[in-house]
Parts: sequence; C-alpha cells; structure tokens
Amino acid sequence: MFRAPKKRALERTNFGKEVVRDQDYPERLSLYTVPPLQEITLDEFEIWALDRLRVLGEIENCLSRNKAPKALEAVVKPIIDKYLSLSPNSPSAKSSILDGERRKDHYSHFILRLAFCRSDELRSRFVKAESVLFRIRYANAEPAEWQNLISHYSFGWTQVSEEEKFSLRDELVVSTTSSDHESYFKVPFERVPELVADRRVFLKHGDAYVPVSQQISLVLAEFSSRLSKALELTARALPRLDEDDRLVPILNHISRGFVAPEYFSSDEAMSVLGETVKAVQVDSLVSHFPLCMQQLHKGLRRDHHLRYYGRQQYGLFLKGIGLSVEEALIFWRQSFSEITDEKFSKEYRYNVRHNYGLEGSRKNYRPHNCVQIIGGNPPGPGDLHGCPYRHFSEDNLVAALGSMGVHDNSILRQVKEDVKNKHYHVACTKVFEYTHAKYAPIGEKGSVLKDEAITHPNLYFDRSVQVAKAAKARADG
Ligand code: SF4
Repeated sequence: MFRAPKKRALERTNFGKEVVRDQDYPERLSLYTVPPLQEITLDEFEIWALDRLRVLGEIENCLSRNKAPKALEAVVKPIIDKYLSLSPNSPSAKSSILDGERRKDHYSHFILRLAFCRSDELRSRFVKAESVLFRIRYANAEPAEWQNLISHYSFGWTQVSEEEKFSLRDELVVSTTSSDHESYFKVPFERVPELVADRRVFLKHGDAYVPVSQQISLVLAEFSSRLSKALELTARALPRLDEDDRLVPILNHISRGFVAPEYFSSDEAMSVLGETVKAVQVDSLVSHFPLCMQQLHKGLRRDHHLRYYGRQQYGLFLKGIGLSVEEALIFWRQSFSEITDEKFSKEYRYNVRHNYGLEGSRKNYRPHNCVQIIGGNPPGPGDLHGCPYRHFSEDNLVAALGSMGVHDNSILRQVKEDVKNKHYHVACTKVFEYTHAKYAPIGEKGSVLKDEAITHPNLYFDRSVQVAKAAKARADG
C-alpha cells in the first residue's frame, strides 16, 4: 500500500477538479502518507469507520486495563481479523479481495483522522491506538514485507559502518544486549523514546544506536510521529469540512469514543436464556443485570414508578433479555401498583407497545448501548436512568457497588481511577469480572470468563447468564 498510488483515470467533478478514480495497493503495511482519492458512498464511509473503531476501541480498552502486549494481541487479533483483516500477498490470493481489504483499511484510517484530529486528547488517543494496531500487523508480517516498507519510506536512518561498530563494540554489546554480529542504525535519540527509556540502546553525541533486531521500535516511532504531525495538519484543514452537513454528524458520532456493538434482540424475544422471559421471573434475574439496570429495578420496586427516560432505558433492556410485549405489559402494570388500571392504560400502555414497534412509527427499537446511556440525557433530580459510573457521585457509586457485593478496596480504587479517566465501561467490566470471578478467574484453566470489555448492558446480562450456565454445567459434570 505504500507505493504512491497509480493514477489510472481522471475524471472531472462538478467543481472542475481532477479526481483520481483508482488506487493500487501492492503492499499491506502502510504508513498512510497518501490520502485516499476515490469516491466512496456515505454508507461505506460510516461502516468502514465504525469497523476500524471497533478495533481501536478494543485496543483502548486493553490499554486502559494495562494489558501486556501479548495479552493485548490475544484479545485484539480476532477482532482485527473480523473487521479489518489484511491478507498477505500470495499466488493464491485474489487481487480483488486484497484490494478490497486494503482499500477499506486505507479509507477507514483517513476517515478516523478526520474524527480524531479535533483535540489534543483525541489525537493522542488515536495515535496510541493506531500505533498498537500497526505494531500487531508489523509483528505478524513477513521479513520481506518489513524490508519493502523500510526501503520504500525514507526514514533517514544511518547504517553504522563496520569500523565504527568495531570501535564501539564493548559499549554496544553491553548496552543493547545484542550479539557481536548484530547490525546497527544510528538515529537521533528523541526518535526512539521507548528504547531510551528502557535503556535498550547505546547513546552517543545525541544519537541512539539501534540494533536491527529492535527495528520494530524504530518503525513504530516513525509511524507515531508521522501520524501525530499529519493529525495536526488535518485539524488545521478541518474547519472547511464543518460546512458539510452529511459528514459532520457522522464524524461527531464517531469521535464520541469507543464503539459499542449494536445488540440485536431476537424477533421471538428469546434471549441467551433460550426461552422468553416471564414478568414474574425478572426479580430472580436481577443478579445478572449491570449496575445501571439494577439501580433502575431497585428504584422501580421502591417507588412503584419510573420516569420516562428510566422506563425507556429499562424497558428496552428487558425487551433485550427476552420479555415479550405481553409480558412487558404485565410487568409494568404490576410494577406501577399504586395507580389504577385506567391511568395505566391511558398513560403507559402506549409507551410499552411503542417500544415493541406496535404503535406510532412502528419502529422496532433496540436496547440502548453503553455509549447511548453514558452520553445521553443526564439524569436530573428524581431520575434513575443513566450510567452510575458516569452519573453517580463517588460516595453513591461506592454505596451502589456495595449493594452488588463489591467491597474490596483494591477493586474500588481501580473503579474510581477508571471513572476519573472517564473509562466508565472499563470500570463496569472490572466489576463484572470481580463479581463473576467465583466462576473461575480469567486466564485460569476452565475459566468461562471472556477477556473482553462490556459495551452494552445486554451484553453484560448475556455474558453473566452464560458464565453461570457454563459453571453449572461443569459442576454437574
Ligand atoms: Fe450500564 Fe454500560 Fe454503565 Fe455498565 S457501563 S453500568 S452496562 S451503561
């Protein structure tokens, strides 16, 4: 992908500008120095961007949970393969498939540049996540691909001559723990901060002597610094884009953070439980609910009422776990026990049926994901909707977690830290892992916990039920 795109055919747009209609992608590793030039549809624009964001979102989750590089790769690699795979060149590979994958990779990278160039914080998050993605791909590529990449881009590295190497032999071997036969590049030390910080290079007169075996650090440093500069340039050019009312809402949506996969409740209102849920069963399932839904359920039982946004958030969640519309009507009618049948029919029945697509626009509404709940209407006094990690005070959050059985100071400390860093779903994931650790902690033989972030309340529920079921099946032999 890093060969300059070949111009095949030029067309004129309505504005009289030349547009390149085709680009070649001879290699899969790229430093993304050439912007895409073809037209794509608005759907491709959004879908490709969201797919890349799934990958970067999972990388961010892993980074915020301090995963070691190997553990991070184990979590992220399947997601890369699913949403952003890049197959290697091979005689059997179909060029249309390779081109399609590389084109998507190229365009999605540049689309996210637009979304993530708007502030220092977004830029640094993007550079971090993209650099990790690049590192994983680089590490999984063939040496010939590394060589192609290095010889294509002019990195300005100086090869250390045999004479110089010989004169510095002792220092080089001691400070880099490399063998006598190693070759070295000389680069200004500020270009390899990681290697300098870890004392993995020999420094002299402002140059770092980097062994070829550490070349990935050099390439990565190039990738990150070029991307940082490019993002600043993009930010300066962005005001011109603000007039585009088709792209700006998409970009705003994308830059709101990580992406939460949509949760699809099945048409038959069947959940992971394998059966429709009855209204009377809801109380017995609360232990599988995430904190946001436990709070709503508790408030409903206490006040015999929930305000509009609370009813929406909780009602759609219950729909997602398998409550049919008939059972939902029974559930809400019984829960609002202090009002008459008439008042219920007049004021609430329509709303319940509406959520199931049986009234009004007849849209089949989906349960809200974490991004919608965290970034949606904040709760006012008397409201119970929202995400407790985002909307509760620290004291109230600790008290709410206590009601879930989370008293461990070290977990509470980590949760507070995540909340301070605005990683609300990471805090929620830690609580999930802690409260389900009795079923065998992550990484332990026989563990049924998956090492992935919670991004949807219904995902929390599904996973909790699956974990409990798997543990029961193991216990039953
Ligand atoms: Fe609910 Fe998501 Fe917040 Fe967890 S992170 S409490 S699932 S909104």
